[in-house]
Amino acid sequence: MPSSTIYKTVRQYNSERIPEADMSRLQEIAKDYRAVRNYVYQRYGGIKSLPKIYPGYTVQNEMTASGLRAKLGLPSVYFYLAVFDALGDIKKQWTQTKGKIEQCIRENENLTSEDRHYLRFVMKQSDCFEAILLGQEIQLAKAWEKSFLEVQTGVEEKRLNQYLCRQVRRHLKKLHTETDNIFSVSERAYRYEDHGIYLAVKEKRKRIFIPLTDNNRYTKQLTVQLFPEEGNIVIHAPIERQIRQHEDYHREIGLALGIRTMFVTDEGRAYGEKYSEYQYALSEYVREGSTRYRRNKQKNPGRKKYTAGRERLEAALHTYINAEINRMLRTERPAVIYLPKLPQSSKAGINKKINSSVNMWQKGYVRNRLLQKCREQSIALIEVFGKDISNECSRCGAVGEKADGIFTCKTCGAKYSERENAAKNALNRGRDSAGHFVNDIALPE
Ligand SMILES: [Zn+2]
Repeated sequence: MPSSTIYKTVRQYNSERIPEADMSRLQEIAKDYRAVRNYVYQRYGGIKSLPKIYPGYTVQNEMTASGLRAKLGLPSVYFYLAVFDALGDIKKQWTQTKGKIEQCIRENENLTSEDRHYLRFVMKQSDCFEAILLGQEIQLAKAWEKSFLEVQTGVEEKRLNQYLCRQVRRHLKKLHTETDNIFSVSERAYRYEDHGIYLAVKEKRKRIFIPLTDNNRYTKQLTVQLFPEEGNIVIHAPIERQIRQHEDYHREIGLALGIRTMFVTDEGRAYGEKYSEYQYALSEYVREGSTRYRRNKQKNPGRKKYTAGRERLEAALHTYINAEINRMLRTERPAVIYLPKLPQSSKAGINKKINSSVNMWQKGYVRNRLLQKCREQSIALIEVFGKDISNECSRCGAVGEKADGIFTCKTCGAKYSERENAAKNALNRGRDSAGHFVNDIALPE
């Protein structure tokens, strides 16, 4: 069921450099937090633990009994949040695994439609799914017995169950984190006061005080991110936002995301045409700054000034991106947006040069902002298969030619800008096939 509110994250910053002694107290918590998460990943991330993770009481009880909390000396307010964080990641991992398996089932040509039907059924029924993975006998609630008999007819159950087990082993990733500068804080572990925040630390009854740049007070669970070298922290606080429904947003549109222009629509309208200027200014600044920094590492000149400059350029870029996404939504009035799936960064083999990493990272920002705004305004954002989306002709489907930003199809004579052609393909693909609905996927940090 769609809810009428969603969460959006706001940030808070310290107003004075945090003394080293306090910073190391915070780092202690973050390190223990990581230890707890990794412990939970290792103990409950595997197939055998699947029956324990929903709804999670067993894990909580077993973690209490594990003695890990006492061993670390971590206050329980932090300990259980770390457990739940890790448990949430494990659940997410299962959801993703199931999603990937569903895709494999769709694309596997050796499966009959009865096979697919059977596999989908047992994946939906968690009792079935667990029993198959654990090699146990399937016991279903009375209400489901009849439909299960139906899907069992005419399929080789054993072979399909083995297939399912293989797919899970293939896709379920082992979770592990190296992040030791982040932890969550529940309401019981913090208090806003004196234009700042008091945070519980490992020493009993002690709270450290951090003056903040704003006087806002939040009541939800916070996430604290540490930047020990700079003596800074960033607090991430979730705030509730009402979802808006636009009665007059009916259109289906295709979008192509670009490096020069943020978006081009299937009708050829462009948004964010100055995107590359802002982007270029930022990446040049970062490139020059880091060259200078490497040359004079010992002296470490003007690092603070550099950081301030980078933040200013970044803020300008982000303001521009947000304004252009808003303008696009206001002008296009979409109910549904189709956009090509990004290639997976690991596969694309990104080189580690600063320019391209800034590019990739900002591209991620554009996507996340678009996703967030679509959520806030009840617009469906659907990813479509991205392969060859810029090479195929959107009118006839033949492979065309691209030169100087223009796509030409020799087969049917179509001629569009490259991006417009890609956006038209996104729309076509979205309408033709089941795309992947992304509004519900959690935003990456
Ligand atoms: Zn054509």
